[in-house]
Amino acid sequence: MNNKFYTLSLPEDMLANLRAIGYEQMTQIQALSLPHLLQNKDVLAQAKTGSGKTAAFGIAILQHLNSKKLNIQSLILCPTRELATQTATQLRILARYKQNIKILTLCGGGAFWPQANSLRHGAHIIVATPGRILKHLNKQTCNFNTLNTLVLDEADRMLDMGFYDDVEKIISFLPTKRQTLLFSATFTQEVKEISSKICNNAIHIEAPVSKEINKMQEIFFEIEDTNKDDALIHLLGHYQPKNVLIFCNTKIQTDATAKLCQDNNIDALAIHGDLEQYTRDDVLVQFSNNSLRALVATDVAARGLDIKELAMVINYDLPFDSKTYTHRIGRTARAASEGIACTLYKQSDDISMYNNTNIAFLHVNTLDKPSNFKMKPLYKTIVIEGGKKNKLRAGDILGALTANTKLGRDDIGKIYVYDRQSYVAIQTNKTDEAFKQLKHNKIKAKKFSIWLLD
Ligand code: AMP
Repeated sequence: MNNKFYTLSLPEDMLANLRAIGYEQMTQIQALSLPHLLQNKDVLAQAKTGSGKTAAFGIAILQHLNSKKLNIQSLILCPTRELATQTATQLRILARYKQNIKILTLCGGGAFWPQANSLRHGAHIIVATPGRILKHLNKQTCNFNTLNTLVLDEADRMLDMGFYDDVEKIISFLPTKRQTLLFSATFTQEVKEISSKICNNAIHIEAPVSKEINKMQEIFFEIEDTNKDDALIHLLGHYQPKNVLIFCNTKIQTDATAKLCQDNNIDALAIHGDLEQYTRDDVLVQFSNNSLRALVATDVAARGLDIKELAMVINYDLPFDSKTYTHRIGRTARAASEGIACTLYKQSDDISMYNNTNIAFLHVNTLDKPSNFKMKPLYKTIVIEGGKKNKLRAGDILGALTANTKLGRDDIGKIYVYDRQSYVAIQTNKTDEAFKQLKHNKIKAKKFSIWLLD
């Protein structure tokens, strides 16, 4: 089957942008859903994280968007802030071929009034978590009279997190004539019922189990109660992945597991809902730019994390149900990369629900265990107190780092420029030089405060 994007009737500049991003052909969910999405049909699509669903609805939304009218035309509701931020980032990349598309992220955790102010200036697409959007609706700081498309991303997860009352209230503010798209990793009866309530004759799309799943190795390790920590270190020693996301079921356990890793020379940090938003953002940046090897997370904190090429997921704690398992392991082997998902369990645990998948069962003792191994970060992150609002671009930072220094492009990793802050990853052995360079020199004729994230 020809799954190339050009088989759809999309404008040439959009196709050129997709090629520039590196999307050579449609993923399964894109190939199955886009023809309907582009015809304005309502769709209920089963799509796991990593299947390319954001681009599926993103392409359709952008294709239908009238950029000349600065009013809200699409609303994307996500269960978590991280997912909303990443969805907005992906949409901005997809929208690069069109000028002046305004995409606003409205999530809790950020100050309310600056958001209201941005809304006053107008936006085309809103990516939001339900609680915050409801607050804007109640305070009448936004209205959706001109809305054409509603997307509920990870609809099953929104159900789990008890968001449905809020979602229903939000929907009561939307025009009834609209396109409604529901994406969900699982097709439970509840999701289907919701879809029949809020969609108009939705087309159901279930992507067949794709090759993507086979790119992932799933292994379960039975462990004795007392040696869970040893087993984790053993696994990490054997695989020494470039990056690894370790799941625990409680916040306390994430802290304890991160400490265990640190005590064993494994660069690790914990992330969970109790951390301040800015700390969470810093940790996510460090993980996604390879300044952090191991991230230890609860399910809520890891939702929506989109790290390309995440090498490994470890379930330190067995998830409570198979749905959570699917979500967790969906973090690795995304798009074109490969991955490994390891799960620790005890003999007394009920793992019967996992029997019919492609899981291999091994014992940790069959893996070699190097002594004295270390997992150090490959990069360190420098924070610059200046961003888009200061008219900084990634190229300016790169220029400031490489002008008149021994630093080359290869010493510098990812550069993220946000509104008020920028983050640049530097190879660990070049951090001192880069830090000095930025400390003593100007970027775009201006001095900025800088500091190192540890
Ligand atoms: P998502 O399921 O939306 O979280 O997407 C998972 C990852 O797949 C993201 O990093 C996307 O950039 C990437 N992606 C989406 N569509 C394609 C495509 N057609 N080809 C290659 N990568 C893609």
